[in-house]
Amino acid sequence: MSVLIFADQAHGKIKKVAFEAVQYGAKVAQQLGVSATALVLGEADSAELEALGNYGATKVLHVADARLNEVEGTVFTKIIAAAADQEAAQVVIFPHNFDGKAVAPRVAARLKAGFVSGAVSLPDTSNGFVVKKSVFSGKAFANINITSPKKVIAIMPNTFALEATDAKAAITAFSPAISDADFRVKVSSVETVSGEVPLTEAEIVVSGGRGLKGPENWGIVEDLAKTLGAATACSRPVADTGWRPHHEHVGQTGLTVRPNLYIAIGISGAIQHLAGVNGSKVIVVINKDPEAPFFKAADYGIVGDAFEVVPKLTAAIKQI
Ligand code: FAD
Repeated sequence: MSVLIFADQAHGKIKKVAFEAVQYGAKVAQQLGVSATALVLGEADSAELEALGNYGATKVLHVADARLNEVEGTVFTKIIAAAADQEAAQVVIFPHNFDGKAVAPRVAARLKAGFVSGAVSLPDTSNGFVVKKSVFSGKAFANINITSPKKVIAIMPNTFALEATDAKAAITAFSPAISDADFRVKVSSVETVSGEVPLTEAEIVVSGGRGLKGPENWGIVEDLAKTLGAATACSRPVADTGWRPHHEHVGQTGLTVRPNLYIAIGISGAIQHLAGVNGSKVIVVINKDPEAPFFKAADYGIVGDAFEVVPKLTAAIKQI
């Protein structure tokens, strides 16, 4: 019996959210009195695999196959389900990120398991197996009792603080029976812009809205982001009018981000924007209108003209 955790990697590095999933899975395993096994698909550094032990995995299954460096839903589902069978996993844990969203529901269907996505608590096993999840874009919580014998949980990123130990994990090669025919979609190339912090993984996000007046003014957003080592984001109209690329659009119809710090510049704070950012740990709003709705969701607010405030803020941070 075990808890199996899908430990997501990119370019050989285990993602922070995967460490969070492993730590969560190890705690669930402790609750159930079973072991915690992490599963890594694709090429990964051995030090990264070993680090999974620091967060509670007792065993790491590794499929060191370059064809798995990018997520492919069908084949990932097949391998994760095979690992769950081999490990007699009662619970399978995923991060609720782009990759987890692509695979977790399929694995749940394959294992005939009850599924909770976006979990924000450990299961309460005092009366069933109740997991709390965030619903209505973070406006409410639902407690879901998973009654099936097998269970799949996808945890909300940046919800569970990491606490590393010096525990070690045993790394074991895992060789599932897969062939080229299992890959229904092949990623031919991945374009990344060097130096950019991936938005959904970023600890700090600096975001701009229509208050910035035009794309020619984005230098102040980029300067602040660069100074803080942050990713840049924008509101939907900014992406719709082509001021910024669509992959920066956050909100109900864009990406969901949950950074430790979200700085909103010249964004009004419409409900559809908040839906994608209100899981951020600390929200700072810079807006010249003191009545802007975003101030109600802010931890800190600066009422002022972005063109005056932001360069001063960047200069002050550079001096720290
Ligand atoms: P505005 O509402 O125009 O606000 C600009 C703000 O800048 C104002 O508060 C103003 O006071 C301030 N400002 C102006 N000049 C300055 C200055 N010099 N210094 C400082 N502040 C200044 N929106 C999203 O963002 N994401 C979504 O995913 C999304 N999905 C949607 C889905 C649906 C179905 C619908 C109907 C709408 C959606 N929207 C979404 C749009 C949303 O309703 C808002 O229209 C949008 O978020 C507003 O963008 P904004 O705040 O950049 O612009």
